[in-house]
Amino acid sequence: MDDPAEPRADRHPPVGGGPDGTGGRPATTVGEPGRPPSIDALARSLAGTGLPHPVLVEVAREAVAAGDAASAAARADERSRRLLRPVVNATGVLLHTNMGRAPLGHTQPEGYTNLELDLTSGERGSRHDHVGALLATACGAQAAIVVNNGAAAVLLALAALARDRDVVVSRGELVEIGGGFRIPEVMATSGCRLVEVGTTNRTRLADVRAAVDAPQADVAVLLKVHQSNYRITGFTEAVGVAELAAVGPPVVVDLGSGLLDAACPWLADGPPAWLRSEPAVRQTLAAGADLVVISGDKLLGGPQAGVIAGSPELVARCAAHPLARALRPGGLVLGALQEVALAYLRRDAGALPFWRMATLDTDTLQRRAQTIVDSLATAAPAPTTDRAAEVVRCASVTGGGTLPGIEIPSVGVAVPGDRRTILRSGRPPIVARVEDGRTVCDLRTVDPAHDEALVDALARALADPGGS
Ligand SMILES: *Cc1c(COP(=O)(O)O)cnc(C)c1O
Repeated sequence: MDDPAEPRADRHPPVGGGPDGTGGRPATTVGEPGRPPSIDALARSLAGTGLPHPVLVEVAREAVAAGDAASAAARADERSRRLLRPVVNATGVLLHTNMGRAPLGHTQPEGYTNLELDLTSGERGSRHDHVGALLATACGAQAAIVVNNGAAAVLLALAALARDRDVVVSRGELVEIGGGFRIPEVMATSGCRLVEVGTTNRTRLADVRAAVDAPQADVAVLLKVHQSNYRITGFTEAVGVAELAAVGPPVVVDLGSGLLDAACPWLADGPPAWLRSEPAVRQTLAAGADLVVISGDKLLGGPQAGVIAGSPELVARCAAHPLARALRPGGLVLGALQEVALAYLRRDAGALPFWRMATLDTDTLQRRAQTIVDSLATAAPAPTTDRAAEVVRCASVTGGGTLPGIEIPSVGVAVPGDRRTILRSGRPPIVARVEDGRTVCDLRTVDPAHDEALVDALARALADPGGS
């Protein structure tokens, strides 16, 4: 993977001289003894970090202002760690919001694209023509457009279809999705009027009908929000999509998590057991939804994006709304999402890192874990067995506000104590989790190409006396 944010070892030795960049090399003495060092000279002494000079000047200024010129190297290292860079996700959380949710599997070639150029006519085309149509085919929709994220897709759909009109939604679905995305607030922002029906645990078709038939009602949309990150259990009742579709107004379903098809035709073995109760776009449309809104970087496994799929007339109204221009994705996102859509249509889960990782069998993970533990034993024999690495069974989760409470059996490597800080300080940084007093690296979310880096990092962590 070519990563512009990662200084290449051959060009830029990491800060601190050590392989992990944490060595804390003392700042070169610059200037005359007893006099404050020249900012410029101090900055130039840090050139080996690979950070550009203006950034190093800032770092040098901060260090000198703090009366601690010697801290400049450590500050430069800290600054370089803030750059966006690839990390190894050993948490077992497949869609980790802090690590960009779905793992990226696409690299963009340099140069121009036909983003808004119709190559047949030579006229201006639409950026929605490429990937929207492919995604629509993949989920059985007649049309689809792509926007910046799932939240933007909900906002746009409501603004385009229901501004100054009523939107009926169950009280059991007036939820916060995460990151402060609250359905009632998005509805208010879109300019529609929220009409709540039912109760937190039970909403019946009669509640919806009563709201639609009320004397002053002007219902533009029946909104259904998928309980993606929570569950209401016990004495519950909800109105299904097919029942809603029979009421009259267009039904918009915010599915969020973005499973395209419950049959998972892109997986050779069909849907895994842990996916059993997750609603999918194809089946929701088939049940009568007019529009379905999903996120691009959850179970779809793509880049950050939002998709609005369904009736061509309603999708066109969304695309024509002025907000569509403000919420449109760039060519990088559309390029990545097109790869995702093509992989689904080819039924090639191997090209979708999220699905590849989610469906790895535990035997394969077990073998990798054993190889890692064996290499660690050879590379750095533990002084005592209680400091040794071991293979452990663990549980991965999809995360990212999807499939709450559902675990996927997995296998990892555990080392005693909390070694998260030293693992994060490596290159590439490794993000692990702590369970029962030991650090667990769940291999499901680790690309096998990083297993060797994991061995090196764990060997260093085990050798570090301050680790546990
Ligand atoms: C995640 C989610 C959203 C928001 O999608 P983003 O892509 O994170 O903006 C909206 N609705 C539901 C039901 C979700 O699960």
